[in-house]
Amino acid sequence: MRTPLLIAAACLLTLAARAQESTKEAPKEPVEVLRQRLAERLSTAAEGATAKTPAKTRGKAEARPEGRQAAHWGYTGDVGPDRWAELSPENKLCAVGTRQSPIDIRDGLPVDLEPIAFDYRTGGFSVLDNGHTVQVNVAPGSGLTVMGRRYELLQFHFHRPSEERINGKQFEMVAHLVHRDAQGRLAVVAVLLDRARDDKPQPLIQTVWANLPLEKGEPLAAQVQIDLNQLLPSDRGYFTYMGSLTTPPCTEGVLWMVMRQPVALSAQQLGIFARLYPMNARPLQAGSGRIIKESLGGP
Ligand SMILES: [Zn+2]
Repeated sequence: MRTPLLIAAACLLTLAARAQESTKEAPKEPVEVLRQRLAERLSTAAEGATAKTPAKTRGKAEARPEGRQAAHWGYTGDVGPDRWAELSPENKLCAVGTRQSPIDIRDGLPVDLEPIAFDYRTGGFSVLDNGHTVQVNVAPGSGLTVMGRRYELLQFHFHRPSEERINGKQFEMVAHLVHRDAQGRLAVVAVLLDRARDDKPQPLIQTVWANLPLEKGEPLAAQVQIDLNQLLPSDRGYFTYMGSLTTPPCTEGVLWMVMRQPVALSAQQLGIFARLYPMNARPLQAGSGRIIKESLGGP
């Protein structure tokens, strides 16, 4: 009578071992791949805020047709800027568009540009390392009005070095503040970031860096608030032209407003971003005869 019992016990042990193995194997699947996908999704939702997405869906993963993932892209090698259009049909404009960004800003028409009416309010924020940049998602309620149109601020993020140049000059970094109006039109304010002569830390950047998340693809909600007026230069003169998103899918029809006066960061602040993203700037695009307007006067 002992033999059948032993056999039964052995069978049970084998089954148990198999069960364990299979549970071990299941989650072995691609955590890294999932994380990468999540980062891609989040970055598409924000940086590539497509013009047609209503503001209400902001913050959620962008609605994409089932099974379609944003193609992986980067700044070097075979997923670099000169390959973006080949990575996905929706990136076509990256190659064939004639209203692309960034550009070298020169020969602007000096005119009486109306001041940008900034309406930035102190509020909460979360910081996301989306695999392409550090992005700060801001609480609703901030925005700006220009040419009679109100745009809501969605997020801001950084590039190193600055994507745009002014008369050929490139800056250490740039912050892009992405806004969208009720009809889905995009407006981006660029704040050039340069090294401070006195090496004083910039207060708003200090707060953002303090809240950097430890993991990519996972937004970290800050426990403090920020006042984005602190990121604007004191001289509100600017350049303006029509361009595109500087990341895939390179959507055009974006109103660019590039602040003329750079904002100063300490060497340490610049160094922190450099460690995360040593180079995340798209190369210059052709001006193609576009009109650039510039505020009269200046520093
Ligand atoms: Zn940008």
